[in-house]
Amino acid sequence: MQIGTDKVVSIEYTLTDDAEEVVDTSVGEEPLVYLHGAENIVPGLEVALEGKSVGDELKVTIEPEDGYGEYLEELVSVVERAMFEEIDELEPGMQFEAEAPDGETQIVTVVEVDGDDVTIDGNHPLAGQRLHFQVKVVDIREATADELAHGHPHGDDDHEH
Ligand SMILES: [Zn+2]
Repeated sequence: MQIGTDKVVSIEYTLTDDAEEVVDTSVGEEPLVYLHGAENIVPGLEVALEGKSVGDELKVTIEPEDGYGEYLEELVSVVERAMFEEIDELEPGMQFEAEAPDGETQIVTVVEVDGDDVTIDGNHPLAGQRLHFQVKVVDIREATADELAHGHPHGDDDHEH
């Protein structure tokens, strides 16, 4: 079986940045399972995996526009400290999940805390970065009707959502 639209694919991967630092890896953990063609993973990686088979290994370099997007200055903004009233110690580098205007979950990073002013950055932490993936395909199967309806793979345990 080859990777294509509507296949559920399991991959082992290691993601490094331009400085060859490991940013993220599945090695030592469960493989990443995604639904091909459903934008579960960055576009550049999905394209690179198209047509691959179990056991195939690949190295892919992905430019920001095919990864987590370009870094956008307009996503940096200053908000009031009161927005974080539940957080006692607010420090630069802290990350929060916020809902973007389009309803998608967005990670917001605190850049600076200056009295009542908190500078936050809504760019994905990997926005503007070139991504280097080393990937091995470990499993490919047909998606179930439920998975296609949900747009993501389901694990072994039943879940309701
Ligand atoms: Zn689901």
